[in-house]
Amino acid sequence: MSAHETIVVGGGVIGLAIGYELARRGQRTLVLDRGQPAGAASLAAAGMLAPVSEADMAPEALLKLGLESLGLYPQWVQGIEERAGIDVGFRAGGTLWVAVHRDEAGELAHLEETLRRRGLAVERMTAGALWALEPRLSPRTLSGLSVAGDRQVDPRLLCIGLRAAIGRLAGAVRSGCEVSAVEVDGGALRVRGIEGSTPIDLTAANVVVAAGAWASQSLRLPLRGLALRPVRGQIVRLRGEPVLQRVLRTSDCYLVPRADGELLVGSTVEEQGFDVAPTAGAVHDLLRRAREIVPAIYDLTFEGVSVGLRPALADHLPAIGATEVPGLHLAVGHFRSGILLAPVTAKLIAERILDGREPADDAVSPRRLGLSAARPAA
Ligand SMILES: Cc1cc2nc3c(=O)[nH]c(=O)nc-3n(C[C@H](O)[C@H](O)[C@H](O)COP(=O)(O)OP(=O)(O)OC[C@H]3O[C@@H](n4cnc5c(N)ncnc54)[C@H](O)[C@@H]3O)c2cc1C
Repeated sequence: MSAHETIVVGGGVIGLAIGYELARRGQRTLVLDRGQPAGAASLAAAGMLAPVSEADMAPEALLKLGLESLGLYPQWVQGIEERAGIDVGFRAGGTLWVAVHRDEAGELAHLEETLRRRGLAVERMTAGALWALEPRLSPRTLSGLSVAGDRQVDPRLLCIGLRAAIGRLAGAVRSGCEVSAVEVDGGALRVRGIEGSTPIDLTAANVVVAAGAWASQSLRLPLRGLALRPVRGQIVRLRGEPVLQRVLRTSDCYLVPRADGELLVGSTVEEQGFDVAPTAGAVHDLLRRAREIVPAIYDLTFEGVSVGLRPALADHLPAIGATEVPGLHLAVGHFRSGILLAPVTAKLIAERILDGREPADDAVSPRRLGLSAARPAA
């Protein structure tokens, strides 16, 4: 009997969430990550859990999935925190959208109309009401919107918590393991790779590929047609006396305060392949814009820039579930919402593997991608 019933390739938030859910439900699960943090999206993410604020851009299927995942969050986090013994920074507080230019005020009116049309709760705010909540907002603030239902989490703490929680269950996480191939081997799947200088050769009934932007690049799969692309995001990290209590957003910038005094200013959305070098232009643009919204950021300490590669499929929806290859599952393409979608992704994969249940909504099924099983090498 193989030591592991399921092997998960990739230990970002998606792979760890799946490892945790399977282990919580009693599966002997192993998460393998090559442990090179450069570019891993989960370590750069802001951690906004904002399906309502993102609804303007999201197709119906994504909005539904995001709302379901946000609904799972409180209990999910509680289980992780109890097992790991740490606080992962899950907070209420909502999002404030702010306008400091007249054209932005027009954009907010459009956003309000869109959200209301989709039946989502949003409240219009005057500048005075915004200053009462966030006194350091620019004196040029014109108007805003409050989306009270949005939440936030600290993705780094969440990943640390998930790792620790898996270790307390029927699972394990091994970093420094670079998977080079997943192969069909009779009725099972074989995972090959390297750990340091030692070859890895493992079999399992189920393999879940959760290798982020690298899922169609860093390992060979018995599947043809999978095409992920990296979408670079740069985010500036500042620190100092708190200047904000809540997440602030405009159409081209956001500010996310953390309980420990960190303030994140994000983010770029760039098509630059696998290049993870931070750029002067991104830092300049983000800070200039953030200063327009909250002038007090000028005096904060500059801590650095995080760069992450968002994993994107052509239609910008994730692919979650079984593939044409028996036992091989995908959990990829979470693009801008992987932190939000982690609990629902893990639930869907666990239901597929443990209960044989297909997701009700085909919109996120890997089958929509038209992949085919690759013929085994002769
Ligand atoms: C700047 C920025 C801000 C963001 N803000 C938010 C936000 O506020 N809210 C939100 O919901 N989402 C946000 N996102 C999106 C979110 O970060 C991603 O959707 C999510 O992190 C994707 O997780 P993942 O586990 O699929 O990928 P990753 O975190 O990239 O993890 C993939 C892992 O696979 C490993 N791997 C790859 N190939 C192999 C291999 N061959 N063998 C072994 N391991 C391998 C890598 O080492 C990596 O650890 C943001 C992203 C960025 C870049």
